[in-house]
Amino acid sequence: MHTVFVGHLIIFYIQQILHERRFPVSNLDLATRLSCTYISRAMATASQVKGGTTLLLIDVQKDFHPGGSLAIDSASEDAERITNIIRRSLKESTSIDRLVATMDSHHKLHIAHPKFWLSGADNEPPPPFTIISSRDIKTGKWKPRPNLKLPVGKDLVNGSLMNSQYDKEGNLDLVQYCIEYTSALEKKGRFQLCIWPEHCLIGTEGHQLVTNVQEAMDEWSDVTGGNIEFIMKGENLLTEMYSALQAEVPISSATSYNQNFLNSLRQSERLYIVGQAMSHCVHYTTRDIVAKWPKSERHKICVITDCMSPVPSFEKDAEKFLQFLKDNGVKTCLAADVK
Ligand SMILES: [Zn+2]
Repeated sequence: MHTVFVGHLIIFYIQQILHERRFPVSNLDLATRLSCTYISRAMATASQVKGGTTLLLIDVQKDFHPGGSLAIDSASEDAERITNIIRRSLKESTSIDRLVATMDSHHKLHIAHPKFWLSGADNEPPPPFTIISSRDIKTGKWKPRPNLKLPVGKDLVNGSLMNSQYDKEGNLDLVQYCIEYTSALEKKGRFQLCIWPEHCLIGTEGHQLVTNVQEAMDEWSDVTGGNIEFIMKGENLLTEMYSALQAEVPISSATSYNQNFLNSLRQSERLYIVGQAMSHCVHYTTRDIVAKWPKSERHKICVITDCMSPVPSFEKDAEKFLQFLKDNGVKTCLAADVK
């Protein structure tokens, strides 16, 4: 065995010597080799995209598509058009420099999910689409479940944003908190607390991006070297987060307005917005972007209206969204217009 190995080694060195004689390495070759090494090192420097076009994909997740727990019928066609925009950018001269994807991300016992609550009458959870007002909690019509356990070592409510705070033992008066929370929602005037079907539970299939969009994004990454920039929203189980920029009622620093996210979007020369749902998360994310985007630069934003749909029976909210865009000088376009 050992003799065979030594034999192979001798043959290898003889071949190398013959090769060097036939193709001697000149000083020029050496210089080229060294400079190539230098160039390849320089080209491996990872960069951040400056300017360019950003496609912001809001909650393009399976639970909002047919087969999901909060499905929107036409979302599949929207996803198909989103996929086409991404694929076209790889084949034609159009370019998408950044893909930013928000992900609705909930716990099962989230404040807007049924099992967080019990009826005062029969201890049953509310059916989806029940509205719970601050008055309903004060009168005992609905009550938060009494055995809710909060994550250990992680104050979901912190700072001076809420009167309700954890006590020294790390407990929270949940009834008092829920009254304060729903009152703050009502005061804001956008929504009352709406109970949704459980959706986008972290780790479940419904939380995943819809398959065709995910595949197009993967291809975009492979071809361009760009990484998808993910923004998680809704993980704090004690507040709702339709907008990817802030919670409906900010109850901690992590659920307050995300200025860093806005700043990163503002780097774009062109910002296209797509996703679900037009009546809710797209609507309120866009509002929160526009609110802090300079008026003179709003022409950089374009909402692609055939890549989004309202939650069934919330069509009026989608109309209000379109009116908001018009009133605030934000353009709308169609998938085919993305050039
Ligand atoms: Zn949600």
